Amino acid sequence: MTTTASTGQRELLPAVSAFLSSPRQLLIDGEWVDALDGRTFGTVDPATEETLVQVAQASAADVDRAVASARRAFEHGSPWSRMSPRERSHLLWRIGDMIDERSEEFAQLESLDNGKSLASARGDVGVAAELFRYFAGWATKMEGTSIPMSVPGKEFHAYPRREPVGVVAGIVPWNFPLTMACFKVIPAITAGNTVVLKPAEQTPLTALRLGELLLEAGLPAGVVNVLPGFGDTGAALVDHPDVDKVAFTGSTEVGKKIAAGASRNLKKVSLELGGKAPNIVFADADLDAAVAGAALAGYFNEGQCCVNGSRLYVQRSVFDQVVEGVAAAARAITVGDAFDPATTMGPLVSAEQHQKVMGYVRGAIADGVTVNAGSGDPARDHGYFFSPTLLTGVTEDMAVQTDEIFGPVITAIPFDTEDEVVAAANNTVYGLAAGVWSRDLGTAHRVGARLRAGTVWLNTWHADDVTLPRGGYKQSGWGRELGSFGLDDYTELKTVIAEL
Ligand code: NAD
Repeated sequence: MTTTASTGQRELLPAVSAFLSSPRQLLIDGEWVDALDGRTFGTVDPATEETLVQVAQASAADVDRAVASARRAFEHGSPWSRMSPRERSHLLWRIGDMIDERSEEFAQLESLDNGKSLASARGDVGVAAELFRYFAGWATKMEGTSIPMSVPGKEFHAYPRREPVGVVAGIVPWNFPLTMACFKVIPAITAGNTVVLKPAEQTPLTALRLGELLLEAGLPAGVVNVLPGFGDTGAALVDHPDVDKVAFTGSTEVGKKIAAGASRNLKKVSLELGGKAPNIVFADADLDAAVAGAALAGYFNEGQCCVNGSRLYVQRSVFDQVVEGVAAAARAITVGDAFDPATTMGPLVSAEQHQKVMGYVRGAIADGVTVNAGSGDPARDHGYFFSPTLLTGVTEDMAVQTDEIFGPVITAIPFDTEDEVVAAANNTVYGLAAGVWSRDLGTAHRVGARLRAGTVWLNTWHADDVTLPRGGYKQSGWGRELGSFGLDDYTELKTVIAEL
């Protein structure tokens, strides 16, 4: 049995120890304040199960305060509304650099709060900094064109104007706490909106640290407010009449509640929801690359990634070979503490998540599936660790095959023909991501085009850039995030018509 160092025994940067040394508050109108009802909750280190720090828990009354502050900051004449696109651009770039300067601090906080390895957390922090710099470029490029009109006997000049939507509520999950917060905050402020951000209850720390940094960088008070809390805090934001748009990333189940709640006053909604991505390996693929890619697709980020390839389909003639390869790759993963440099997979984020993943795997085993790797707890004295798991003998109607497990679990099923595998791959309520492995470019592109998913990877997986739009077909969401397309969702399009 391996013993994980207690949180206090870790070698933390002085800035991280200082951040954890006193209760964290809400960020409202540029000030750090307690919740009005004084409630707090503890955020837990998933490797040690110890509470890291108490965090203020926002209620509906705090939501009122934060939304009012975001509204004031948005209104005509406010310092934020007077800031030119170029000034916004410079500010965004500066924040990206400030994140880079404090990257180890952000990475340590993220690893402590979420459990992911320090190497993964460093990667996430790099993405956050890059997102600020990428969108810095867009602040000065929100252009329109003039539109010709054909009205007999009259002349007009008509043009579209992109304007900010107003007050945006950003509600985010725990699997990439800092990057998910940045996915909402950065495009929103690039377009001139103001934001109330609600981080996930499991992982509020890096969003709070980001709030400190935004103030330090000179973002005017109220432009970004940060309200840690649970589902009721998110629901209060969705219900609030003075919120103009909800930008949500999370489960499909909660996404449906948000769409229903927002429909009461028809505020704008964008939704980045769950997935159950099919990963299809044809017999003519480069099998070494496909095996490594399938393991990465399924086990990246402890399997807690919406675009992970959890349903592996392998053409029958190479099925055993690919299954053996992925099982070996799963066994080669070192499950351990985020702060141990040997670790390639940390714990799951919470006791609840651990129980959920374990429940799916135990249920499948009871139904008679074959376990090719993993299937449970590695020997540990504490922490929410789970071994990367590969299951075969799975049928399409089993819960492990239909439901988003959101843990390091891959199911592998053999197929014979292209039509059969496309039908199986698309037989899901989700449509977030998919992948195809084949040396035949015709097969890869043809099958890729037939897959109903917002992102399709051909002979690769998780290749990504802040420049690319992402989002879901079917019940995986509404709208697209990032890239130039991602800004559209944070603007209203006004048509201006002037008679000359
Ligand atoms: P979740 O839906 O349980 O929670 C997400 C956020 O919503 C949290 O901040 C939570 O407090 C809040 N919330 C809960 N109930 C609410 C309500 N009734 N009203 C308003 N807000 C509410 O999701 P999770 O467990 O934190 O994250 C995992 C899910 O997120 C998975 O389904 C995953 O696929 C999805 N996800 C999707 C993407 C994407 O880009 N499509 C990215 C990451 C994660």
